[in-house]
Amino acid sequence: MIRLSFSLLALLVAVSLARSPLPPLRVLLITGQNNHKWEITTPVLKHALESSDAFTITVSTTPAKGADPATWQTWHPNFADYDVVVSNYNGDLWPDSVRAAFEAYVSGGGGFVSVHAANNSFGDWPEYNRMIGVGGWGGRDEKSGPWLYVKDGKLYRDTTPGKGGAHGPQHEFAIEIQQPDHPITRGLPPRWLHTRDELYSSLRGPAENIEILATATSDLTHQHEPNLMVLQYGKGRVFHTTLGHADYSMLCRGFYETLQRGTEWAATGECQRTAEVPADFPTADQASPVALAGHPQQVPPSPKPAASATK
Ligand SMILES: [Zn+2]
Repeated sequence: MIRLSFSLLALLVAVSLARSPLPPLRVLLITGQNNHKWEITTPVLKHALESSDAFTITVSTTPAKGADPATWQTWHPNFADYDVVVSNYNGDLWPDSVRAAFEAYVSGGGGFVSVHAANNSFGDWPEYNRMIGVGGWGGRDEKSGPWLYVKDGKLYRDTTPGKGGAHGPQHEFAIEIQQPDHPITRGLPPRWLHTRDELYSSLRGPAENIEILATATSDLTHQHEPNLMVLQYGKGRVFHTTLGHADYSMLCRGFYETLQRGTEWAATGECQRTAEVPADFPTADQASPVALAGHPQQVPPSPKPAASATK
């Protein structure tokens, strides 16, 4: 009887330990300026992270474009209060003090996640470009660093002259996993169809300490262009996704899952809270849109015959 009770107690303890959730990670989501519809996409990003139960989100909205220095002085997030910073920002250069604090935060071991046009931002901020590895537009060209692409599983660094950043018309496209042994990609199908989005190509930058996790074949360059990347910046980890042009681009189970995993990995170096592959993850030939009340609010443009020069 005593032995039975003890066994039962041990079992209960084991079950409760197995179920004890890991504490949620604290995310600072920065937005407020973008050449994209940040007012529409920020709630989707928030939902994408919150729906995993792995994160608590604080949204920090910067001053508006062209704000005067006095207004910028009112914006000084305390990065140290967060496990990871996610950027949905592409706009005016942050004040010196905020940039210095952000560099210290990431190099000191903080996590950073760059989403889509966040890699268009800050073309002239060298340390930011080292964090994101590669970026597009914002004056970027061969002087910013090589164009990175993957061919036959090998990473190429093309130093020939040319502008950084391009994309053709939006479309669904296949994401191909290049590194299946990383916590962010582990267990995902080797090839899966992403919802309608821009396929960034010709991204350029210092590309130090970078690993390409997934690519898609560009209709402009005909190369495997990086879509999901990870970097080391000092003691900090960076997850860089080029996906997410519009709300309907983010409303993809593949985007949700890789953003959740990338954010957890940037915060902790692991993907324990987000390891489970959702049953509705997209397949090689079937995209998997996420249903979210009130979305999508953006209407995709009509197909264009030629490549667009806009971001
Ligand atoms: Zn875009």
